[in-house]
Amino acid sequence: MKVIEDMQHWRDVRRKIGGDVGFVPTMGALHKGHASLLHCSVENNDVSVMSIYVNPTQFNDPADLQNYPSTMKQDLQLAESIGVDYVILPSDHDIYPDGFRYQVIENEFSRQLCGVNRAGHFTGVLTVVMKLLNMVKPRRAYFGKKDYQQYVLIKDMCAAFCMDVEIVGCETVRERDGLAMSSRNKLLSEPARAVAHKFKQALSCAPAKISADQTLADQKMADQLVADRLAAYGFQVDYVETRKHRRFGAIVVEGRNGQVRLIDNVELESKVIGGDQ
Ligand code: AMP
Repeated sequence: MKVIEDMQHWRDVRRKIGGDVGFVPTMGALHKGHASLLHCSVENNDVSVMSIYVNPTQFNDPADLQNYPSTMKQDLQLAESIGVDYVILPSDHDIYPDGFRYQVIENEFSRQLCGVNRAGHFTGVLTVVMKLLNMVKPRRAYFGKKDYQQYVLIKDMCAAFCMDVEIVGCETVRERDGLAMSSRNKLLSEPARAVAHKFKQALSCAPAKISADQTLADQKMADQLVADRLAAYGFQVDYVETRKHRRFGAIVVEGRNGQVRLIDNVELESKVIGGDQ
């Protein structure tokens, strides 16, 4: 496995790579969720590339960026053990030579769910992903459905800009108790970690079937029921909303170093009696 920090050098290397390239962009602090994306890439492509870049433009809170965990040595070991061929480590200057003058902005879905209280977050995400895809030029790029809104926005961006890349969504990998794996889980306080599994439990608790005769009001009531249950568990609820046959949620919990925001989503059983929305 080659680890490349110099992006000029990476461009020369990339020119010589033949066959299908699979790409997994990450912000490091890897866990089994990232590993599943890497396995998928290694199995389905001739060459696999992973990037580690903690993208400052997608953080709303400077403290969140400051506290973002870093485990570079273990990350490289894990990537190598899975069979990744190249890890690229771009710098802020490699990614933002323009000082973020140019941005990719989406005006609809990015303003919902996580976009409501995180202004500009998805602009940062879409902009960095566009740049990384241009640097790596993969045949396929892998994203986790844990961040389902992000996955949809990236897929739609690639279609909108006629980009020749397949965006592959991979299922959410969870801890044994059901908590979605996340680099941020490391930041949870002990008591917060002990109850965090109730987040996924609550998202799945309300009627999970969308039937032909279910109205928007029914759906909102179910979402409210979930939000109430989360509040009763002591979580600060950012939102619980159903979109695209999924129930999405975001909560804020106590961390060891300030508050930590967790997101998750569950697929709802649809087309139960032929109904679709
Ligand atoms: P991050 O390093 O948090 O930016 O995540 C890099 C990629 O890993 C994104 O596509 C995430 O959606 C994906 N990912 C993070 N956690 C999980 C998980 N628990 N299961 C599956 N994919 C994940």
